[in-house]
Amino acid sequence: MVVILFGPPGSGKGTQAKVLAEKYGFYHLSTGDLLRTAIKNETQLGLQVKEILASGKLVPDSVVNDLVKEAVKENSASILFDGYPRTEEQAKTLTLVLGTLSKNIDYVISMEIRFEVLVERLIGRRTCSSCGQIFHVKFSPSKTGEVCDRCGGRLLQRADDTEAVVEKRFQEYQSSTLGVKQFLKSRFKFVEINAEEDPKLISERLGSLFFKNEK
Ligand code: ADP
Repeated sequence: MVVILFGPPGSGKGTQAKVLAEKYGFYHLSTGDLLRTAIKNETQLGLQVKEILASGKLVPDSVVNDLVKEAVKENSASILFDGYPRTEEQAKTLTLVLGTLSKNIDYVISMEIRFEVLVERLIGRRTCSSCGQIFHVKFSPSKTGEVCDRCGGRLLQRADDTEAVVEKRFQEYQSSTLGVKQFLKSRFKFVEINAEEDPKLISERLGSLFFKNEK
């Protein structure tokens, strides 16, 4: 099964993807995570994109398309795309890549959320530097506030989760990414989800949507 989680920054794509991957064995393909890993490992690609991520702009299509082609080749079972495709060019590449593997996009999940809610979520978000678990200083704090409840790793704020960069990311979403929504809507099974609801409720809904005919 191939699922695309579509929505603005902070709509909970990563949170949902992690839960669904753990519960149902999806391969979680987050282009943001792939890029951040490259930055952390100081690879050539990482050095090339570091400034772009810190500014909140989109990385060039050719760069992310190449990353996705590689990742899909290595993990071709059930895939959950998080943060990709973000432009029509990326959506077209994805359709071609999946076509070569005789796969289709089964669902596009559109995470619907108001801007005010996004900003508060992103600015308070903290991510475990070791296992990637996501916390929020107000809505889901870790027990100590400093380290991850799951693995003890240090909690960090993403460099692009500051107010100024969040605003830029949202502008990018509106100017470059929102256009893909129509493209995806017209071609694939498109399901809108209220992303302001409790994350647990959302993952339950998504689980029953994907596996409604299975025991
Ligand atoms: P969010 O969806 O919360 O903004 P991501 O982790 O998906 O977070 O993306 C973080 C940054 O990584 C983006 O602001 C952008 O610079 C880059 N990025 C991630 N995915 C893509 C993509 N598909 N196309 C271009 N840039 C991307």
